Amino acid sequence: MVVILKNNATDEQIKDVIKHLEDYGFQIHESRGVQKTILGAIGVKPGFDVRKVKILDGVSDVYRVTAPYKLASRNFKEDNTIIKINDVEIGGDEIILMAGPCSIESEDQIFRLAKVVAESGSKILRGGAFKPRTSPYSFQGMGEEGLRLMRNAADEYGLLMITEVMQIDQIPLIEKYTDIFQVGARNMQNFSLLRELGNAEKAVMIKRGLAAKIEDWLMAAEYILAGGNANVMLCERGIRTFETYTRNTFDLSAIPVVHQRSHLPVVADPSHATGLRDQVAPMARAAVAAGADALMIEIHDKPEEALSDGPQALLPKEYMELVQEMQMIAKAIKRTI
Ligand code: PEP
Ligand code: MN
Repeated sequence: MVVILKNNATDEQIKDVIKHLEDYGFQIHESRGVQKTILGAIGVKPGFDVRKVKILDGVSDVYRVTAPYKLASRNFKEDNTIIKINDVEIGGDEIILMAGPCSIESEDQIFRLAKVVAESGSKILRGGAFKPRTSPYSFQGMGEEGLRLMRNAADEYGLLMITEVMQIDQIPLIEKYTDIFQVGARNMQNFSLLRELGNAEKAVMIKRGLAAKIEDWLMAAEYILAGGNANVMLCERGIRTFETYTRNTFDLSAIPVVHQRSHLPVVADPSHATGLRDQVAPMARAAVAAGADALMIEIHDKPEEALSDGPQALLPKEYMELVQEMQMIAKAIKRTI
């Protein structure tokens, strides 16, 4: 941490700031210029609140040098984390595709779409059984029956499955069925849920919150890692900005930024990011080029009848074409799909 004192800070104030820093357990390096005094404080703990120093008399600015997340950081673990589930590896050279409907709607629907997912060569079936809907009057998901249908469809076609967990008491139930827990954007800072998932056996994918900074998102991952679950991946799904022509703004640059700062795999979700079918493929292609380790894409064969997110679902034929395009882009960056 670097502490910059005000130009007119008195010797008394500087002494007092140093005393406070020492009391907090820091080692101090003092640099006195003609006008400015700068203090380097060594040994800042991840959870330290820098505002405790900012409010001291005579202090102008305080900057953290180290990140507040530890287990999630690239400094802690240099090599990429590769999450292995059966024969699927997320975070390695192969880019993994997760596809399926927004919601599980019926046995017939999930089996038809699982078939499309398998035929495209994708490895993971997505679908929600517990849906975080903005309106309490919208379809809320099929619950356990949906989980059962999805597990059967995934097994029938040799796929893994990922589904959303919304609250702590759903963890044991969902864990019986799923391979990967999805934490939705609206729950990214549900710290009690994250803490509990730290004890889970299954991998967790955390979607970036609607208004979350990359640091907030990495801190959410830190909660799960700190609980002892090392199989965590992050999913960029767009953030709220002032733009209204897209559902959200897809922060593609978050992909290389997270890769630089963290060893965890990064998933991209161009479906929720854009919200409209015709924008999904361009952003999916861009996400592959930007270095995503996996993609999550919504598909539906009768999108006009879908109970949620129909307008952003790709038709099976569109998805098949997109997979071929993404394969070519992956090859150009020496990866495979
Ligand atoms: C979803 O994946 O269906 C979903 C609700 O996503 P998000 O949490 O990103 O809105
Ligand atoms: Mn959806």
